[in-house]
Amino acid sequence: MIKESDLQLSDAKESIIVPAGDYLLKKVHKGSTIRITDLEGNQAADTIFYNADNTAEHYSAMDTIREQGNIYLSAGTTLLSNFSKPLLKIVADTCGRHDTLGGACATESNTVRYDLEKRCMHACRDSWMLAIAENESMGLSKRDITHNINFFMNVPVTAEGGLTFEDGISAPGKYVELEAQMDVLVLVSNCPQLNNPCNGYNPTPVEISIW
Ligand SMILES: [Zn+2]
Repeated sequence: MIKESDLQLSDAKESIIVPAGDYLLKKVHKGSTIRITDLEGNQAADTIFYNADNTAEHYSAMDTIREQGNIYLSAGTTLLSNFSKPLLKIVADTCGRHDTLGGACATESNTVRYDLEKRCMHACRDSWMLAIAENESMGLSKRDITHNINFFMNVPVTAEGGLTFEDGISAPGKYVELEAQMDVLVLVSNCPQLNNPCNGYNPTPVEISIW
C-alpha cells in the first residue's frame, strides 16, 4: 500500500548515508521513526531488528506473515518478534511492497546459486558479521543472525508457489518508514549482490533517517 509520510527530512534528528555494500548497526528508541530511502532506486536493504534490551527477541517473518495474512510487507504491517510482540510498525511506504521470504545473500548461497568462483564475493551475511564484531557493546553475536526483511526487493511468489528474484519495483527516492514499538537494534546490510537483479546489478547507497 502506498502511503506518504508527513515528516520532513529537514526535521530529522539524524540522517546517515549507508554506501553501496556497506552496513549499519544502530540503537533506536521506542517512539522514534526510522526512514530508509532507496536513494538511486532498485537497491535491497537487508535488515534484521532486535529488542535492544534482550537480543534473543528478534524480527520474525513467520509470526509477521501469519498475523497479517500477507507475505509482502508494506504500510500497515506490524513487524512481530519471535515472542509475538510488536517490534515496529510500517507507517509510510512509497515503494509499496517489501520481501521477507528471499533471505539474505551469503557466500554459501552465492556458490550454490551462481558459481564456485563467486564464493569470495562480498555478501550480506559477512556485512552483518562485521557490524556485530565492530559493535560488541550492542550485545549481539553471530548466533543472533537470523531471517530478515529485504526492503525494496522484489521477490514475487507465483501461483505455483515459486520464488524468483526479479528486477525491482522501487525507484530513486522511494522510502519506507517504521515506528519503533520498543527500543530496537537496527542491523542493515546495504546489499552488495552482483549476481541477480535485486540491486539492478549495480549496488547504490541508501539513507537512514531518524525522527
Ligand atoms: Zn545481499
